[in-house]
Amino acid sequence: MLTHPLPEDWLQPQWSVPDSVIAFVTTRDGGISEAPFEQFNLGLHVGDVPAAVLANRQRLIEALPAPMHLQWLEQVHGNQVVDAQADEVTRLGDAVYVDQPGLGGVVMTADCLPVFFASQSAQRVALAHAGWRGLAAGVLEQTLARFPDAPADVSVYLGPAIGPCHFEVGAEVRQSFIDSAATQALASAIDKQAFRPSTEQGKYLADIYLLASLKLRAAGVKHIEGGTLCTYCDRDRFYSYRRDGQTGRFVSVIGILP
Ligand SMILES: [Zn+2]
Repeated sequence: MLTHPLPEDWLQPQWSVPDSVIAFVTTRDGGISEAPFEQFNLGLHVGDVPAAVLANRQRLIEALPAPMHLQWLEQVHGNQVVDAQADEVTRLGDAVYVDQPGLGGVVMTADCLPVFFASQSAQRVALAHAGWRGLAAGVLEQTLARFPDAPADVSVYLGPAIGPCHFEVGAEVRQSFIDSAATQALASAIDKQAFRPSTEQGKYLADIYLLASLKLRAAGVKHIEGGTLCTYCDRDRFYSYRRDGQTGRFVSVIGILP
């Protein structure tokens, strides 16, 4: 049980995992960053005033229901999974794995897909940053493989990303998913379901939620929730790189309460 509630505007995954797991997504509300980063920008790499970002990060830490160390990542659209540590050092990778109470992991996004993982035992959680490159490179499969649990015993929640209404990509993106699919059945499902032609000649509208779900199910995951929002459509709550170009980053956080 949470000892005190998280800010009301933060999203909390609706999924069945034990009470010792804390998981949430921040919104634009409540910080001190100014335009075009208003208000609660948590990315230091986007051109915002560093002092404002650090003050926002401090607010994030203070809003946690218990003292916790957060592992931050330098995200590179790859498939490297980092083991969370308590030393406050930012590590290079696109997923973070946590197996100790009092530790958490952070992923920053503004259209890319944050993917939460929790073993049903609650002793192990993870969080992945999945843009199309990382997704095609297997970041979700790599994250899942870090768990000693059977994939059927790991629950997944898909956080807010750019929806199929707005995620226009070139033919090379579709092809890279088909080429990198582990099986013919997966390649065929991706081809038939995850891309539809856009009004722009030679372009497609990609469903990043469906791509993630198809890949996770092919890897043996049974419990997948979330995947209904669009960061581009929801200007009030979310940053969107596709919509705004220079903008902030909101964060997803997962951890095990101390
Ligand atoms: Zn949209």
